[in-house]
Amino acid sequence: MNEKSQTSSSSPAKSKGSSQGHKMPESVADGGMADAERDILAELEKALGEHIALLLRWNRKLVLPDSPNPSEIDDDEHDCDFGAWYTLNRHNRLIDQPAMHALAATHQQLHDSAKRLLTAREIDGEVDSAEFDMMALRAESFFAQLRRLERAFRTARSDVDPLTGTYNRQTMMGDLNAERERAIRTEIPTAIALVDLDHFKSVNDTYGHQAGDLVLQSVAGILQSHVRPFDKVYRYGGEEFLICLPNADMKQCARVLERLRRVIEASPVAISDDKILPVTASIGAAPMTKGRTVEQIIEKADKALYAAKEGGRNRVRVWRSPDTKAAPKSS
Ligand code: GH3
Ligand code: MG
Ligand code: MG
Repeated sequence: MNEKSQTSSSSPAKSKGSSQGHKMPESVADGGMADAERDILAELEKALGEHIALLLRWNRKLVLPDSPNPSEIDDDEHDCDFGAWYTLNRHNRLIDQPAMHALAATHQQLHDSAKRLLTAREIDGEVDSAEFDMMALRAESFFAQLRRLERAFRTARSDVDPLTGTYNRQTMMGDLNAERERAIRTEIPTAIALVDLDHFKSVNDTYGHQAGDLVLQSVAGILQSHVRPFDKVYRYGGEEFLICLPNADMKQCARVLERLRRVIEASPVAISDDKILPVTASIGAAPMTKGRTVEQIIEKADKALYAAKEGGRNRVRVWRSPDTKAAPKSS
């Protein structure tokens, strides 16, 4: 992959009007490893979103007969921050590695393929099917490489719980403190929820630890795929997960959690060819508020969780401040 061609396919730092957009963050430059990795992860996540959007635009221009004339191959058509970011930072020790270079090469090929297709469409009014398939494959490969790299960075940071794939407690308190500050600053309500599997010990006792692990993995998968994209799931303890729900007042929070509870209830786990186990969870939640530390908020969520267990399990309870209404109250 050469630097020139990389730059040519993606608009350089001028795009998006940001003067600091492609600069290596301070933390990378000064070798602050954890922050540097976090910044790279953020860049990879951004690249994913950018290219999903670009792919949709390219496809629309190529295949929809009523789409506007695809001929204006302007900067915008191939404008993304990733190429310029890579070019500027490729000699950094965290980025100068084969997987990252391979990702950049795939990225370049993806843009080249799209350019060829859009140009042919403009000149001949046709879309070459082999080239179209090639673009789709390159896009798929780009997304897969991105996800693999993200995972590698996260594993290296020990952010991920190896059994369940959720975030572990390593960075949880830092994340939650940042979320709390953001919620207070922006006055956007944010909540914390604790999800605890019901009678999980009996799964281990009756069917063995491995069956228990399968149940944990299944529930973790449900939690991660059914929360909103910006919610974050952590493994809080053995069979307990913590979810941070930004931008959710307690009513919305209860709705999201009730949906999760139902999906868990409706998703029994096959622990062997002939044994399917029903699984339920109890959930407690509390809002992030100015007057309480993260530890105190978790404590309130735990109180609500306790109330859910006491109330018969397989239910959601939301903690409410005694100053507002009787606590804890059912969702
Ligand atoms: P409750 O409904 O009150 O929550 O009951 P429970 O049985 O779910 O709760 P309890 O705290 O009594 O038991 C939790 C069990 O979770 C005990 C522990 O052996 C098990 N556990 C913790 N971590 C793991 C793990 O990583 N894998 C497996 N298989 N089991 C685990
Ligand atoms: Mg527990
Ligand atoms: Mg439990």
